Amino acid sequence: MTHTEYTREILDIEDKNIYFNENCLEIRKEGPLKVKVFHGFLTYTPEYCEHCGCISKDYGDIIKWGFDKNCLVKINKVANFNAILLLDKQRFLCKNCNHTFTARTSLVDFHKQISNNTKLSVILDLMKKGSEKGIAEKNNISTNSVNRILDSICDDKLIKNNGHLPISFGIDELTATKDTKGKYAFIIVDQTNRNIFDLLDSRKNIDIEKYFKRYSRCEREKVKFITMDLYAPYYKLMHSLFPNAILIPDRFHFVLQPRNALDKTRIKSISKYNPDYRKYKRYWKLLLKNEDELDDKKMFYSPNFRKEVTQKYIVTYLIHKNSYIYSSYNYYQGILKSIRDRDKSKFINIIHHFDKTTSSQYITKTNKTFLKMEQYLVNSFDYELSNGIVEGINNLIKQIKHTACGYRKFKHLKFRIMLIKGLCNPIKS
Ligand SMILES: [Zn+2]
Repeated sequence: MTHTEYTREILDIEDKNIYFNENCLEIRKEGPLKVKVFHGFLTYTPEYCEHCGCISKDYGDIIKWGFDKNCLVKINKVANFNAILLLDKQRFLCKNCNHTFTARTSLVDFHKQISNNTKLSVILDLMKKGSEKGIAEKNNISTNSVNRILDSICDDKLIKNNGHLPISFGIDELTATKDTKGKYAFIIVDQTNRNIFDLLDSRKNIDIEKYFKRYSRCEREKVKFITMDLYAPYYKLMHSLFPNAILIPDRFHFVLQPRNALDKTRIKSISKYNPDYRKYKRYWKLLLKNEDELDDKKMFYSPNFRKEVTQKYIVTYLIHKNSYIYSSYNYYQGILKSIRDRDKSKFINIIHHFDKTTSSQYITKTNKTFLKMEQYLVNSFDYELSNGIVEGINNLIKQIKHTACGYRKFKHLKFRIMLIKGLCNPIKS
């Protein structure tokens, strides 16, 4: 093996027009770091002139005209040291048009410093979780360069659905980036393969409608189930877009309504001057707990009660001290139980026999929502599907945003999510 072949192999350079001499390696110190600097040169006989297209038939039409010295190319690390290649690029003079031009190489794009190998390595890193700053450090380039590479591979059309919609999907919203129309973006998750179907930069009805109308009516009629939270505007829209779909509110969000109402009732009813204020403040979590799970055996000392108590004792005490809290508590526990036991008739019974006169304004409002959405809420009892998988993916997205310290462009965030979730592969295409 010659020096050239040897060095090319080490640096994984495929371009056969790059040559290395003996002593091509120099170790430089950059602060505390060692940098491996390789010196090489690029030369070949060009087939034609880049300016006039004159084909080089005889020697003499295009002649070698010195070198562009020391063009910096950032290459992959060598034995974990940062490495750069200083490449002398051959210049040519075309005698036909009297213009000069520089030799090109597949190692690095024209006018660029980052080698294509490094780019590839960055793309592979972008497909894994991890901050862009970390990727930049690992590949010895700037964060801006990582962003530019991400930008260059971003292509919205990469999300190909072949015009088909999932039979069953979940929708949700997530906080978006600064360049989106509203505060929230919109996510569609395929319930069958449990992966993201698509991300939209707006959750406004008009944009969602526009998005789904790209699919044929026939395709939309095939959709059987849609899970979502209790955000009312979605229901009307989804119903009109997907006439055959059963809309299933997520059980978790469903319980959240009376739960939050109970909590608000507690805060509103118990003022700072109430003698039991501290007890409520300390033990509010027990009120929200499922009453069947309250411990009524284990005694512990409570400084607020100044005696040994059980969880059950505390809750009984707290709910009997205030009639609004009492009725709200029973309402919440009733709903909770009906959902846990999948007892649809119990649920219907509770919301239809609701007594407004003894209830707090918050619970009254909750019940009103429930009555309004009854036709959808009953579906949660009849079908197993929930929005859990959507929430899970939403959490992953939050994590991605967090490790990257936020994204300014929605396009970048979306593409990064797609890369990490394996929904597109820029290397294959
Ligand atoms: Zn020319």
